[in-house]
Amino acid sequence: MEPSRQQRRGQARERARLTERLFREGLFPTAGPPAAVILVRHLMGVLGRSGDGRRASKAADAVHRVFEAHLRVHPALPRLDCKRGCAHCCSLIVTAAAPEVLQLAASIRQGRAQEAAALKARIGESRAAAGHLTIGDMVRKPVPCGLLSDDACSRYSARPLGCRGHVSQSVEACLANVADPTARIPGSRPHGEAALDCKLALFAALKAARLPHRSYELNAALERALETEDAECRWLAGEDVFQGVPMDPTRTPEIEALLDRMIADASA
Ligand code: SF4
Repeated sequence: MEPSRQQRRGQARERARLTERLFREGLFPTAGPPAAVILVRHLMGVLGRSGDGRRASKAADAVHRVFEAHLRVHPALPRLDCKRGCAHCCSLIVTAAAPEVLQLAASIRQGRAQEAAALKARIGESRAAAGHLTIGDMVRKPVPCGLLSDDACSRYSARPLGCRGHVSQSVEACLANVADPTARIPGSRPHGEAALDCKLALFAALKAARLPHRSYELNAALERALETEDAECRWLAGEDVFQGVPMDPTRTPEIEALLDRMIADASA
């Protein structure tokens, strides 16, 4: 039986309440669909605003805000050694979803012209240093990120989920990892899990919107976005702006099935 108008209004109010809670408390535990599914529903709404040429950047901003809210209220975060000026991890390979890359490119374009030119040059240098390496090879050949400035991230508030989820409880372990990329860094489970949940939610919403739901090597993708006029509008219109940029190779049928389930739950 079709829900009555009153039932539909009640459902809309409840959804608005859950979305508001999502941005206040992050991926809170629910008795119903997981909070990540509530996030997918919100992102599907953002990406569905076809007249908005900034909707990809806005979707990236939404997942980043949910991630930060989650950690702000998390009751049991480990003590971390990460602090401003410590940037060992910023030479490790970073991958980012296209909306995150487009958000960063927009943020650079909106900055001062002199700073934007300097960042573009450094991003180009980082991309050139990586040469034609695959993402797998880049893990073994650390290259400083082009967004680093005086050992700090010049776009910290827009940094991708890959950077947000990568934290360390031991700076000594980070130093050991610089010398030997197989050395383990003790991270933080809450950071890692929240980054994964947010990324899957973003991928599910992108898939639902029939947009590419892959991760790209950050510096190469950023260089491409910066050299492409109207990159976000063109990507949203279906142009493969990131063609040829090294892509995350890990995409299994199990992950696709998980994304399909998230889309179905978010659409219910
Ligand atoms: S985006 Fe920022 S935090 Fe991430 S690797 Fe680059 S400089 Fe570091």
